[in-house]
Amino acid sequence: MIKTNYHSHSSFCDGEGRLEEYVEYALSQHMQALGFSGHAPLPFSNAWTMDEEALSLYLGQAQHLKDLYRGRIELYTGLEIDYLDETHNPAHSYYEALDLDYRIGSVHMLPDPENGEFYSVDGPTDEIEHLLNKVYKGSAEKMISAYYSQLQNMVRIGGFDFIGHLDLVKKHNRKMDFFSEKEEWYQSLITGVLDTISVYGRMVEVNTGAIARGYTDEPYPSPWILKMCFERNIPIILNSDAHKPSWVGFGFNEALEIITGAGYSRGMALLQGKWQEVQYG
Ligand SMILES: [Zn+2]
Ligand SMILES: [Zn+2]
Repeated sequence: MIKTNYHSHSSFCDGEGRLEEYVEYALSQHMQALGFSGHAPLPFSNAWTMDEEALSLYLGQAQHLKDLYRGRIELYTGLEIDYLDETHNPAHSYYEALDLDYRIGSVHMLPDPENGEFYSVDGPTDEIEHLLNKVYKGSAEKMISAYYSQLQNMVRIGGFDFIGHLDLVKKHNRKMDFFSEKEEWYQSLITGVLDTISVYGRMVEVNTGAIARGYTDEPYPSPWILKMCFERNIPIILNSDAHKPSWVGFGFNEALEIITGAGYSRGMALLQGKWQEVQYG
């Protein structure tokens, strides 16, 4: 089976380890392709994305490794880009000017309209608590609706190759227990989002990152959401969102069981410079 991973972070952003260590680990796992996807700079200072200076070093280093490992493994340079609003998102012309092979579009943060600052739904729990309790006055439904509304805006605008961790908002739910995926409002939100994704022909990743970090037992998106993706012919791509070299390919066997259980026998991979269908199993 073709083994690939296009979602990985390194010490250039919030991961551990050098890009080269990710390549070496991917080689040890007999992967055909590895993509680097550092967090693109944000317009405010923060602890988890690259800044402009790191970005240019990252791009240079990635290009160097592509040359160094040519013929042994396919390496691709990507970025995980945040959708914040109309001015900062993956479709911005800034990214077209960069030498990138692909882009991941993700929503990690929501704004507080009162102070204009952004707070992450997946970062330290005090940030999601601020959103939930201060901005959305204790309404998980309102906060989660805002998250998916941002995601839908991103889906419409485009500028990315696939959507990162579709239901990221569930990350802290095991610990904080602020909503149930069985609630009708949540299921209808997901239906709306997937219908939009299907209309715009976007690709969704199956992301095992939160399993590696012990936040969830399941990939993003949840198995029932993945089934709904399959019913809508939404193409998928399997990634591990590795923040350590040894997490490249983490949980792929378990994820493949969920993927085939949802009905999929094929997924997408970037090979020989083109997105193409590959067989799972
Ligand atoms: Zn992410
Ligand atoms: Zn990531």
